[in-house]
Amino acid sequence: MHEYSLVRALADRVEAEARSRQAIAVHRLTVAIGAVSGVEPRLFEAAFTLCREGLLADAELEIRRVEACWSCPGCGRDIASDSTLRCDLCGQPARLDAGDDLVLERIEMEVP
Ligand SMILES: [Zn+2]
Repeated sequence: MHEYSLVRALADRVEAEARSRQAIAVHRLTVAIGAVSGVEPRLFEAAFTLCREGLLADAELEIRRVEACWSCPGCGRDIASDSTLRCDLCGQPARLDAGDDLVLERIEMEVP
């Protein structure tokens, strides 16, 4: 499960970040998952429950879904994701502007 290794890496990163700020617990993480990032939010969530330990033992995961945004590299028009992904005017294949990555947006931690 590729989500598991992503969550594992994320959890390690958050844990390191929390420790460097002398936090005693992490309450919540917000992660943005792009619609075409290849990450399945449900699996990501399931994997997260397996990685909740240490400072993250009681952490909650909030997932923000980011829709894919496409545009034409030629004329810059926005292209709808449900279309053929080609520009009506110049016929160029659409370029993906957003929605292809996984971003850790926020960590809420308790620092005494
Ligand atoms: Zn165009």
